[in-house]
Amino acid sequence: MSTTQRIKGFADMFPPESDAFTRMENTGREIFARYGFVELRTPILEFTELFQRSIGEETDVVQKEMYTFPDSRGRLMTLRPEATAGVMRAYAESGLAGREGVSRLFSCGPMFRHERPQKGRLRQFHQINCECLGSASPFADAELISMLLHFFRALRLSGLTLNINSLGCAVCRPHFREALLRYLQSLDPAALCEDCSRRMHTNPLRVLDCKQASCRAVVEGAPRLLDSICPDCAEHFSTVQKLLDRQGHAFALDHRLVRGLDYYCRTTFEVVSSQIGAQTAVAGGGRYDGLVKSLGGPDVPGVGFACGMERLALLLDAPSPAPLDFYLVALEEEGGLQGHALAQTLREAGLRGEMNFSRASWKSLMRQAGKSGARYCLILGPDETARGDIVVKNLESGEQNTLGQDTVCHFLQTGTIHD
Ligand SMILES: [Zn+2]
Ligand SMILES: [Zn+2]
Repeated sequence: MSTTQRIKGFADMFPPESDAFTRMENTGREIFARYGFVELRTPILEFTELFQRSIGEETDVVQKEMYTFPDSRGRLMTLRPEATAGVMRAYAESGLAGREGVSRLFSCGPMFRHERPQKGRLRQFHQINCECLGSASPFADAELISMLLHFFRALRLSGLTLNINSLGCAVCRPHFREALLRYLQSLDPAALCEDCSRRMHTNPLRVLDCKQASCRAVVEGAPRLLDSICPDCAEHFSTVQKLLDRQGHAFALDHRLVRGLDYYCRTTFEVVSSQIGAQTAVAGGGRYDGLVKSLGGPDVPGVGFACGMERLALLLDAPSPAPLDFYLVALEEEGGLQGHALAQTLREAGLRGEMNFSRASWKSLMRQAGKSGARYCLILGPDETARGDIVVKNLESGEQNTLGQDTVCHFLQTGTIHD
């Protein structure tokens, strides 16, 4: 096998997919800024310990899915499998965490997980992440959810459902965990899949969101988190729902909605689409009070979300690229010199265009101009170059005019010839 192939699970991205990614990033920047978010870019490589501490040793991510390798001094490094841990590290390390007030941070970029490649799942995948740090208020949760829905509306997405749940807190969740474990242990051991039989002892909540049919059936009869959350958590959750109601956001309570990462608490949410196969989550997030502290920073509450960009891209209508304004062909040396300078002038005036550099035959040049999809072909033959003129051919109608080179810019911008 050649060594110059693409690595399995890693993708090259061309238009229209790369255009869709740019659109998501730019729309995100514009919408999130309206809520006071600023962009943070963190490294894609971090010390492995960061993810072990923040995501948790018991998770599939840390146990099986990270790209981890030693550097030349033997220190273990990991390509980030998710964004939140790095953002928290940067937040604590920069001293932002020590200042008063709320920090709202947006980031986007590639993440890496060594999963079995399957349809729609890449080992390098991309996310948009937003984290609101420094507020424990349910208003922060509701604002973040509203912003996410605003972002999706701006991308003109439809057919989306918002699911929410509360995961409780350090006070009430242990009781639920025990009740759930008791329930799971009361079952026929064969009722759960292999993964769940193992993780019911380390992280029984994960059984709730197992995709296996047998486990899904078992979960139907399981105790519900919302029935055992403490009064503080109940009030927090009720306020989040009230705020979403006031804005007219429809949502569903989903008892199976738990997050795979240990640091989530209280509000958790996801947005699912029914447009790509079965219900597929395109964004998920929640509150993670205590995460910054667990990384050695101050005790700062936070809430955030991540959007999977590959999945989101499947939902965007492919934008038809704007056509070029001109396609310039030049004959002979002087035509090339004049054309090169003219094309530059036109672009600096805001027009979009390409110049053909080849010395192909006239017929071939015209064929290439036709294929370019440009609105106009600009032609510089020996007669035009001698007079400072240019032939402007409308590639759709075939109509053609000879203009002065100094008026072609005005013509391309307005469609009218200068008097
Ligand atoms: Zn609680
Ligand atoms: Zn299972």
